[in-house]
Amino acid sequence: MKQLRCRECGRLREFEPAYVCEHCFGPLEVAYDLATIRERVSRESIARGPNTIWRYRELLPAPKGEPIDLGTGFTPLVKARNLGKVLGLDNLYLKNDTLNPTGSFKDRNVAVATNFARSYGFDTLSCSSTGNLAGSVAAYAARAGMRALVFIPADLEPGKVGAASAYGATVVEVNGTYDDVNRLCVELADLYGWAIVNVNLRPFYSEGSKTLAFEVVEQLGWRAPDHLVVPVAAGSLLAKTAKAFQELVGVGLLERASTRIHAAQAEGCAPVSTAIQQGRDQVTPVRPNSIAKSLAIGNPADGRYAARAVRASGGWGTACREHAVQEGMALLAETEGILSEPAGGVVVAGLKELVATGRVRREETVVICITGSGLKTTELFEVRDGHRLHLAKPRAAEFEQVLAEAEKAPAVFA
Ligand SMILES: *Cc1c(COP(=O)(O)O)cnc(C)c1O
Ligand SMILES: [Zn+2]
Repeated sequence: MKQLRCRECGRLREFEPAYVCEHCFGPLEVAYDLATIRERVSRESIARGPNTIWRYRELLPAPKGEPIDLGTGFTPLVKARNLGKVLGLDNLYLKNDTLNPTGSFKDRNVAVATNFARSYGFDTLSCSSTGNLAGSVAAYAARAGMRALVFIPADLEPGKVGAASAYGATVVEVNGTYDDVNRLCVELADLYGWAIVNVNLRPFYSEGSKTLAFEVVEQLGWRAPDHLVVPVAAGSLLAKTAKAFQELVGVGLLERASTRIHAAQAEGCAPVSTAIQQGRDQVTPVRPNSIAKSLAIGNPADGRYAARAVRASGGWGTACREHAVQEGMALLAETEGILSEPAGGVVVAGLKELVATGRVRREETVVICITGSGLKTTELFEVRDGHRLHLAKPRAAEFEQVLAEAEKAPAVFA
C-alpha cells in the first residue's frame, strides 16, 4: 500500500528507511495506493478514530500496532471574529497548533518519525533544529525510551534550548547558522546509525505535516478553505499541505483541491517568498538575519517544492518587515487570546499584506496556521506603556490615582 517515490525522476521503490534516489539523487517521498485506501476510509471511519493525528493513519507511514504518542494533533480550528474585524475578513480561522504537546506543529512530524524509527530499530533520535524541532524530538524520545541528541545554532531563544534539555536530550549548540548545523547533520547521518528525523528520516518526518491540512478540511466540514497562509522555514509544512489536499481528493474525501496556498516569511530570511514573487521555483539561498528564528533557514531543503506548490495553487509569497513580526504577535494575542512565537506574527503580518493587496477578499474563507507557542519566547513580550501599573502602597486611593493616570495613555490598536 505504501512505497517511496523520487520527487525528481518519479521512480518507485520499496518502503524502507531511505531518503535519496539511487538514480538521480533526488529526495524521496511516501507514495500511497490511493485507489485501495479510497475503499477503506470514509468521513465516518475517520470520525471514529482518536482525536490525534492517528485518525488519518491510512494516509501516514503509521506503525502496525498502537503508536507511541503524546496526543499530537486535532488542535482547534477557531473562528477569529476579532482579528477578522481588524483585518476586514468575515470568515477568518486560526489553526491553533500552539496547543500541541510541546507547543509547536513539529510534534506532528516527530510523532510520525519516532514511530517509524522505533519500528525500524533505531535507538537514537536526532535532528538539526531552529528550536521547536529540538524540543519535540527530545519529548518524543523520552516517551519512546530512546536517546536524544539535538543540534541547534548557538543563538536560539533560551526557552527552546531549555525545553529540549528538560526532556533529557543532549543539546549540541553549534557556532553557525541553521544551514551550517544542517550540513553537519547530513555528514553525521552517514557516520552514525541515528534517526536524524529531518535528514535521513525526512520522507517519513515530513508526512506528519499533512495532518494539519487534513484537520483543517475535516474541521471545516470536509471543505477546503479558499486560502491557507503557511509560515515557511524549510518548506516541508507548505509543500506537504499541497500533497495533503491532493491525497484527500484522491481518496474521495474532498471534491477539489482549490485552496490558494500562501507562503509567509519575514524580510530577514525570505528566500522562498522571493522566488515566488519573481515567478521562479528555484530558490536562491540567503544568510538569515531575522527575529523569526524558527523560520530562519537560508537554504531551505523543500524550498523549491514549496515555491512550486504555491505557484500551482495560485497563491503568493509574503516577506513582512521585521518590525511587523512583533506587531503581528501582539495583534493576535490581544484580539484572540493566543500567545504565539514570531512565526505566528509573520503569518498575521503576511495576511495583512494579502488583504491590503486584494489577493484575499472579505467574504472568502481564510485559514492561517499558528504553528508555535509564545511561551517559549517570552523575552519578546514587551509591557506596553499604560499596561503595567505599580502601587507604592496597597491603598485604594493610590490605585484610583494610578489608574486614572494610566488611562490617559493612548489605546494600542485604535
Ligand atoms: C519549523 C517551523 C515552521 C516551518 O516549518 P517548515 O516545515 O520547516 O517550513 C513554522 N513554524 C514554526 C513555529 C516552526 O517551528
Ligand atoms: Zn530519482
